[in-house]
Amino acid sequence: MKKIAPKNLPNKNNPFNYLIIIALLGATAALFMQGELETALKKNEPIAISELQQKFQNNELESLEIKDQKLTATGKDGQTYTSFKEPSSNLADLGFTGNEDTKVSVVDTSGSKLWMNFLLGFAPLILLIALILFFVRKSGSMGGESGPFGFGKSRAKIYDKTKHRTKFEDVAGAEEAKEDVFELVDFLKNPKKYEKAGAKIPKGILLVGPPGTGKTLMARAIAGEANVPFFSVSGSEFVEMFVGVGASRVRDLFKTAKRNSPAIIFIDEIDAIGKQRGAGPGGGHDEREQTLNQILTEMDGFEAGTTVIIVAATNRPDILDKALLRPGRFDRQVHIDLPDMNAREKILKVHAKNKQLEKDTKLKEVASKTVGFSGAELENVMNEAAIRAVKNRQKTITQEDLLQSVEKVAMGPERKSRKFTEKERRMTSYHEVGHAIAGHFCENHDPVHKISIVSRGRALGLTWFLPNEDVYSKTKSRLMDEMVSLHGGRIAERLAFGENELTTGASNDLERISNIARNMVMRFGMASDKVGPVNFISKEYEAKPHSDETARLIDEEVRQLIDEAEDRCEKILKQHEKLLKIISEDLLEKENMTGEEFAAYFKNEK
Ligand code: ADP
Ligand code: ZN
Repeated sequence: MKKIAPKNLPNKNNPFNYLIIIALLGATAALFMQGELETALKKNEPIAISELQQKFQNNELESLEIKDQKLTATGKDGQTYTSFKEPSSNLADLGFTGNEDTKVSVVDTSGSKLWMNFLLGFAPLILLIALILFFVRKSGSMGGESGPFGFGKSRAKIYDKTKHRTKFEDVAGAEEAKEDVFELVDFLKNPKKYEKAGAKIPKGILLVGPPGTGKTLMARAIAGEANVPFFSVSGSEFVEMFVGVGASRVRDLFKTAKRNSPAIIFIDEIDAIGKQRGAGPGGGHDEREQTLNQILTEMDGFEAGTTVIIVAATNRPDILDKALLRPGRFDRQVHIDLPDMNAREKILKVHAKNKQLEKDTKLKEVASKTVGFSGAELENVMNEAAIRAVKNRQKTITQEDLLQSVEKVAMGPERKSRKFTEKERRMTSYHEVGHAIAGHFCENHDPVHKISIVSRGRALGLTWFLPNEDVYSKTKSRLMDEMVSLHGGRIAERLAFGENELTTGASNDLERISNIARNMVMRFGMASDKVGPVNFISKEYEAKPHSDETARLIDEEVRQLIDEAEDRCEKILKQHEKLLKIISEDLLEKENMTGEEFAAYFKNEK
C-alpha cells in the first residue's frame, strides 16, 4: 500500500507548536476568567449604595466586606447584599464608621489585581500573537515556511489523493510527449520489474517548452496515472536571501519524497537555479550554486530501491548548467511545443467539457484563429467565453462569445476608461494603419486580422496579423517582411505628422526589429559573406567570444538589415500615402477594423 500522507510535513514535534498551544490556552483562560467575573457579579442583584448605608445605619448588617469597588454585606437576617462604590471613596466618606455591631473588613487586592489586570490586558495580545503564529505556520502566507520560523523546510506542495487526479486524458494533444513519458508511469507502478531486469530508468527528465504548454499538467498526469504523490516546487522559490537556505530546502524536499517513495518531484522553472555558472545576469550567485549542487548531490545519492523521479520544466534548456544534463541526472528531454491546429481543437474540447456550448459552435474555427496560443491561453479563451455568456444572461456559450474571447486573450482587455486626446488617437490610428499597410504589401507576411485603436494593457493601439496556417520555421524573407511591417508605425507617423511629432509609441517596435536583425546575423547565419554562417550565440555560452573586428562586422550587418527593411517600408507607405490617410481617418471613427474591411480598400490594387 502506498502511503500518501507525508511523514514529516509539517513537523509535529516542533517546539513552536507547543508554544502556540500554551499561548492559546492561556489567552482563552484569561478571557474566560474575565467572563466569569462578570457573571458572578450578576448573581445577586446589587442594591444602591444609599440603601446599604441605610441598612448600616439601622444596624441591620452582620458584616461588610469591601473589595476594590465592590461591597458585600451579610444582613442579620442572613441575606447577602452587594453594591458598588467609587474607587477613591474611603470608609469615612461612605459613612461606614461608628457602628461597632457590624464587622467591617477591607480586602487587600493589590497583588492579585495586578496579576488579573496583566492577564486581562494582555489576553487579546497573546491571542493575536498565537493566531498569527498559527496561520504563518499553517498556510505559508506571510513568508510561510520561508519566514523566520522555518526556512529550511521545503515549500513542496503535495498532491492530495482525495482530489481529482490528473490523467493523461486531461493533457490534450501532446501525443508524442505522452509517449515519451509513458514508461515512467510503468516504472513508478512496478519498480521491481525493472530492477529485476537490470534496467536503468532515468532519475530526471526535463520537460522543455514555452510557458503554458502544459508542462506542469504533464508532470501531474505522470503522478496521477502512476498514483504516486506529487511534490512540486518552483526554481524561483529557491532563490532566497540567505545562503544555504535553498540547499537545506532541497535536502528536506528530497528526504520527504524518498520517505514517500515512489514519488514524483516536480521542479518548475529549473533555469532559475540551474543556469550555467557565471552566465547571464546574477551569474556566480552563491546561493544559486549551493542549491544547484545540493540537487546534484541528492540525485547522485539515491540508494537502490528509492523510486523517485524528478521532473523539471524549463523554456531555456540551452542556458542550463551542463552538470545538470549529465547521464544519471536530467539526461532525457521531452519537448512540448505550442499546440498545432489539431491539438488546439482538442485542448478547447477538454476545457469545454464542464461548460454549456451552443450546438452550432465550431471549435475548429476557434482553433484556426488561435495560431500561437498556448494551452493555458486556450483554457483562458474558454473561460472568458463562459464569463461573457453569463454577463449577457445566456444559458449557453455562443460562437460569438468564443471569438470575442480569442481577441480579448490575444490582445488583452480593453481599457475604455483611459482618455486620450484627439491628437493621440489620430497618431495611434496612423501608426497602426502604417503597420497594416506595410505588412499588406509584403509577399511573405501574414495577413491583417484586425486593427484597433482601443487601448489595451500598455498598448495604445494594435495591429494583429494572423497566419493562415501553423508556421514551424521562418525563412529569411519572412523575417525581413516582419521587420518591414514593424517599421510601418513609426514611418506612418513621420509621413503624416513630420519628424518632430514622432511619439514614443514605437519603442517596442524598434526593440523587436533589433532582436530580429541580431538573431538573423548572430544565430541563423542569414548575414552576408562578410560575417558568414557562424553562430555567435550558442548553447555553450551566452555569447561566444569573438574579435572586435567581428563585432564591428556584426554591428554593420545588423544595421544594414534594419536599414534595408526601413527603406522598403518607406517606399510602400509613400506609394500608398493616400490610402494611409483614408484608412487612418476611417479607423479613427470606427476604432476597430477587421481584416476583411481593411482588405476591401485594396480591391483595385496589388
Ligand atoms: P506550464 O507548466 O507549461 O507553464 P501549465 O501546465 O501550468 O503550463 O498549464 C497551465 C494550464 O493550461 C493547465 O492547468 C491546463 O489547464 C492548461 N493546459 C495547458 N496545456 C494543456 C493541454 N495540452 N491540454 C489541456 N489543458 C492544457
Ligand atoms: Zn507599433
